[in-house]
Amino acid sequence: MSSVKPLVSIVIPVYNEEACLPALFERLKQWLAGIENFDTEILFVDDHSTDTTPALLAEACGQHSSWRFLRLATNSGSHIAIFAGLEHTQGDCAVFLAADLQDPPELIADMVQRWQEGQQVVWAVREKRDGVPASEMLFANTFYWLMNRFSFITVPPKGSDFALLDQKVILALRSSMSASPYLMGEIARLGFSQSKLFYTKAERVEGETKWNLSRKLQLVADAFTGFSFVPIRLMSYLGMAASLLGLIYTVVVILNKIIVGGPVDGWSSLMVVVLLMGGFQMTMLGVLGEYLWRTLEESRQRPKYFVESAGNLTPPEPLSEE
Ligand code: UDP
Ligand code: MG
Repeated sequence: MSSVKPLVSIVIPVYNEEACLPALFERLKQWLAGIENFDTEILFVDDHSTDTTPALLAEACGQHSSWRFLRLATNSGSHIAIFAGLEHTQGDCAVFLAADLQDPPELIADMVQRWQEGQQVVWAVREKRDGVPASEMLFANTFYWLMNRFSFITVPPKGSDFALLDQKVILALRSSMSASPYLMGEIARLGFSQSKLFYTKAERVEGETKWNLSRKLQLVADAFTGFSFVPIRLMSYLGMAASLLGLIYTVVVILNKIIVGGPVDGWSSLMVVVLLMGGFQMTMLGVLGEYLWRTLEESRQRPKYFVESAGNLTPPEPLSEE
């Protein structure tokens, strides 16, 4: 039996989490003390925090040689932050989880075991979520239902933002990640052997969620434009339906004039049609614009993030040209 233990990288995106970090460090230390089957490196990705997070991370990384940090040059959202972290990991596999202890680090051992059994992606799926308002659950459940029903990928139906990826999967992700990414979709799309573990998502230990409504809507737009043609199809169908209705109405107006000799409907009906059609067209242009904008972003091929500073970290290997 080989005595070399696998190295598991743990990527933690962190944005203005000064309230959570002391509890996170404590929990990680306790958990690490009990780990025997694998080695770990922990990589905190500071998503350009504006509180004391950078100082706390630098201090913690000064005390542990296998803890590292990376600070992004702008606040880029947790999906890009996780991606940046994954690009800088050295491990045989990597796990990403949130800094607010909603995802229990203790589950990582089970995920690693699945990976050692041959799974290349292990999703930790939130079966239950403690302390989440009903409106938020409705938003999340509807989103995942729509994604699974109308996109060409399958994501865990109750969502997941805690997962383990094999090194091969990370390489594949690095070479194919889009400019406006919905990370979970990007991973689901890659294939490989994927499996799920279930857990109860705890409440945040401290602080507040960083996902406000506009960020959530942005994610929905990224997810749908990235992995579904349905919005564009819907535009075509709605356009055809509107044209058909218009045609029928025209026939009705003409027949009314010829047969009944009644007056042609006046200003009000005209306004209704004009406003309705105007609204339709603007919405459709908007949907088209969402796809077009992302195509433009993609064609610019700009880096997805810049590293402002780092600690205990070696730069990632460049992807081989093939
Ligand atoms: N996060 C980040 N950048 C952001 C927003 C959030 O790196 O712009 C991190 C955050 O610090 C946390 C994780 O992403 O570790 C999940 O965020 P949060 O807990 O606010 O989201 P929720 O659990 O409410 O979905
Ligand atoms: Mg959270």
